Amino acid sequence: MESAESLRNKCAACFRQFNRMEHLVHHMRTMYHSVHEPTCGICKKHCKSFESLREHLIGPLPKQECKNLFNIQGCKFCLTILDSPYALRIHQDRCQLSGGMLARLANLGLQDSLTIDNGFSRGQQVVALACKMVGGGSDGSLDICARVCIIDENENIIFHTYVKPSIPVTNYRYETTGIRPEYLRDAMPLRQVQRRIQDFLCNGEPMWRIRSAKGGKARILVGHGLDHDLDRLQVEYPGIMIRDTAKYPPLLKTSKLSNSLKYLTQAYLGYDIQTGIQNPYEDCVASMRLYLRMRNQVHRREEYPLASDPQNQNNFASWMSPEDMLAISRSDYYCWCLDSA
Ligand SMILES: [Zn+2]
Ligand SMILES: [Zn+2]
Ligand SMILES: [Zn+2]
Ligand SMILES: [Zn+2]
Repeated sequence: MESAESLRNKCAACFRQFNRMEHLVHHMRTMYHSVHEPTCGICKKHCKSFESLREHLIGPLPKQECKNLFNIQGCKFCLTILDSPYALRIHQDRCQLSGGMLARLANLGLQDSLTIDNGFSRGQQVVALACKMVGGGSDGSLDICARVCIIDENENIIFHTYVKPSIPVTNYRYETTGIRPEYLRDAMPLRQVQRRIQDFLCNGEPMWRIRSAKGGKARILVGHGLDHDLDRLQVEYPGIMIRDTAKYPPLLKTSKLSNSLKYLTQAYLGYDIQTGIQNPYEDCVASMRLYLRMRNQVHRREEYPLASDPQNQNNFASWMSPEDMLAISRSDYYCWCLDSA
């Protein structure tokens, strides 16, 4: 039973109820609720991730009223609620993407057009990067980058090459990589690949400037598990420019662990990747599409959207209403919708 007191102490975002107002105040200080959280289109409950929103709508213990409407008018990929079943059909045709882009790749062959812009591009350029690794070390478990691909926002290949490793390969992992020794023998050496990617990403901007959030012409880098890719490529790039689908809070599991790119592509874009021999182009396209989907979310614009912005004191107090507290609460992560500002 809900007492009047516990209703007064109900979080306006996640609807949790507290016996005492101080507990709600404490909750607000630690939850960083914001307009950027995935939100149920029916009851307006805020969730920490799309995964928990999915559970709320269609999981084993969904909220029944939300589930009923979602079943008729909800898109199972992006989890939005449409106005009618008809609007849903139209929407879902566009929302579910097909993975049939690999034929295009086959005709293109290897591309190598990494160039530095001369400054006339509109807005900040976004590129996606993915690698395929072969095995090194005595048991073949050491990842060595053998193939790398970079695409632009329109899924055009900007750079795609095999990489000649600097240490011996002990396992080509042929069943998933499709890579044979002869592909790497005369490929571009790792040092050269590293230099070219580094220069391409920084695009003429010095590292200190990129780090200080005045990236200028430096490129936003999208990918899945980029720490590992960049480490294997020995490329250094400031976190402020990185959009990683393995680390973005709304795309994490409820347990805060990363989802695989394969799972995210299936769940949010509606098609399969990484079946059989894997192509880094396919991974680039999937992570870029996920990024764009997140960037295109329509969230209310706020002057200082981050809890860490010094203007946001977030002085929650027990005399405030739960709605007022939510109104001044800010996110503790950088929502990608902010890239479209
Ligand atoms: Zn809450
Ligand atoms: Zn947002
Ligand atoms: Zn709901
Ligand atoms: Zn959708």
